[in-house]
Amino acid sequence: MTDCIFCKIAAKQIPSKTVYEDDDVIVFHDINPAAPVHLLIVPKLHVPSLAECSDQHQALLGKMMLLAPKLAAEQGCGYVTNGDGTGSGGFKTLFNTGPDGGQEVYHLHLHVIGGPRPWRGQR
Ligand code: AMP
Ligand code: ZN
Repeated sequence: MTDCIFCKIAAKQIPSKTVYEDDDVIVFHDINPAAPVHLLIVPKLHVPSLAECSDQHQALLGKMMLLAPKLAAEQGCGYVTNGDGTGSGGFKTLFNTGPDGGQEVYHLHLHVIGGPRPWRGQR
């Protein structure tokens, strides 16, 4: 997709604060962070939205989901669990899909949003 901002970031035509990259995905800091940590996990393949994914994207989606806790931990907002429902830290994972889902960029991406309860204010 020539006119897609995330394709351009993946192709290094637009700079980004990249924290992880491999053959399938690029991960960078959101330019307008909603929290102390706000990453976008973006496949290099152009798929417009989650609703346009199909069986062929299953492994890619699994990879994106499994990257989220690893990168959150690296960024200091991992969930440190005691394994019994108690623990500390943590993050949100979010796919916005379509206009009513609040999607602005029509290239699939997974938000990883973390820090000390940023969506409730610091307490
Ligand atoms: P969404 O509403 O789920 O489509 O989210 C798109 C996200 O992309 C927003 O949180 C934007 O702040 C973010 N964004 C847009 N342009 C850039 C960019 N050039 N670099 C990093 N993040 C971006
Ligand atoms: Zn794209």
